[in-house]
Amino acid sequence: MSTYDFDLFVVGAGSGGVRAARVAAGHGAKVAIAEEYRFGGTCVIRGCIPKKLLVYASRFRDDFEDAVGFGWAGTSATFDWPTLIANKDAEIARLEGIYRALLEKAGVHILVGRAELADAHTLIVQPGNRKVTARVVLIAAGGHPVLPEIPGAGHAITSNEAFHLERLPASMIIVGGGYIAVEFASIFRAFDVDTTLIYRGPKILRGFDEGLRDALTAELLKRGIDIVCGSEIAKIEKGWTELSVTLKNGTTIAAKQLMFATGRKPNTAGIGLEAAGVKLGPNGQILVDTQSRSSVENIFAVGDVTDRVNLTPVAIREGQAFADSVFGNKPTLVDHDLVPTAVFSTPEIGTIGLTEAVARERYAKLDVYRAQFRPLKHTLSGRDERMLMKLLVDAETDRVVGCHVLGPDAAEIVQMAAIALRLKATKADFDATMALHPTVAEELVTMREKWQPALQPVAPPRPGKRRVADEAA
Ligand SMILES: Cc1cc2nc3c(=O)[nH]c(=O)nc-3n(C[C@H](O)[C@H](O)[C@H](O)COP(=O)(O)OP(=O)(O)OC[C@H]3O[C@@H](n4cnc5c(N)ncnc54)[C@H](O)[C@@H]3O)c2cc1C
Repeated sequence: MSTYDFDLFVVGAGSGGVRAARVAAGHGAKVAIAEEYRFGGTCVIRGCIPKKLLVYASRFRDDFEDAVGFGWAGTSATFDWPTLIANKDAEIARLEGIYRALLEKAGVHILVGRAELADAHTLIVQPGNRKVTARVVLIAAGGHPVLPEIPGAGHAITSNEAFHLERLPASMIIVGGGYIAVEFASIFRAFDVDTTLIYRGPKILRGFDEGLRDALTAELLKRGIDIVCGSEIAKIEKGWTELSVTLKNGTTIAAKQLMFATGRKPNTAGIGLEAAGVKLGPNGQILVDTQSRSSVENIFAVGDVTDRVNLTPVAIREGQAFADSVFGNKPTLVDHDLVPTAVFSTPEIGTIGLTEAVARERYAKLDVYRAQFRPLKHTLSGRDERMLMKLLVDAETDRVVGCHVLGPDAAEIVQMAAIALRLKATKADFDATMALHPTVAEELVTMREKWQPALQPVAPPRPGKRRVADEAA
């Protein structure tokens, strides 16, 4: 007979925690879960799902514009932000209910409140000072956005608040060069917000393939987003009607709203981890081994709190593998390689495998196949937007080691390409695959010519403030 109240206690009912709790309960474990905010976690409440709903909303603008070339007239639709936010909130509330119901159906004991470790087997849940013991503890507490320590940073918002703005600002500065910054810049720009993206690095989307970074930068500039690279903010001051943002080079930019998307930190502070002996890394992340076990034998951690690959499907997979291994007698490891990723900017990015720069370091001879073209749809819509596709091939084995797409439906396309890369498909396999015509994705199986960059150079974006007019000049 166990001397503990529960076999498993899960801290955090987000993507990783909910999956782990449900699966462990399915394996017969007695499980409790604590959630201090809303069931579903970041992805459902203030991450992937609400963001994608805003992305969908933002893209109708293109549809209305593109329709004219196809004979549609009079598409003079107007947009109402409060309606979008209200409908989005209703959907998020529905999803939250589903997450909670799934836990209840699985027989998981739910505690609403903040859990803290008193020792390796004891948790206190507030409010109410509820004491619970468990044989195994899983920390799936996720992460939170951080505001930098800059004078006036308190005037800024993060992605959390961006989902709840009462009205659209006339102008918005977004600070950051990662996927969240770029996605929100695209969203706000499509709603006619005068949008500036400020990033301290030389080029947005560090870690992505250079070709995609350059091509997306060009497309965002065409859409009227100001991209200010190589700049950092020195201070923020609140005026009567606007925020005044001073850059370290002395330039001042004014905007109605300022959003920081400069980084996230794991939720590991103040929950008793150090006292229980759990070792943390430099970003405050829980250090775990390949089985998601922390430095304490009975304490495990999955998802963003471990700062490995901070994406929903990865957190879910880690939660599943933990529950199967520890409670289902099915030892499972998560493969953190070959994780497909998207940037839901407009146009969007889908990517899997190595970037060209990394692949060149890893393989003695790399073949690059690259196609940049105007999608058929835009021959009639007249939209000046080009799609980019890249395949990277290890010339020695013919294996495709990277697939990068920029353009409509890139994320959907790359999800399918991910299966091929996982199966170690060769370029010959891609070539032997029959094209599905007419699609944009068929380009991936019809690229025959190796790319020779010397013949077709891609201009890198210049750092500094630029407008569309500058590009044309
Ligand atoms: C704006 C944005 C957009 C994103 N877009 C995408 C995307 O398009 N695709 C994608 O794959 N990923 C995306 N992500 C990342 C994704 O949301 C996360 O990787 C994922 O939610 C991590 O899941 P998790 O289980 O680790 O943590 P979370 O989902 O964050 O869940 C952690 C839960 O723990 C709770 N909690 C924390 N501490 C305690 C405590 N002490 N006691 C009780 N409860 C606690 C929190 O309230 C939270 O509900 C996005 C993130 C953001 C912020």
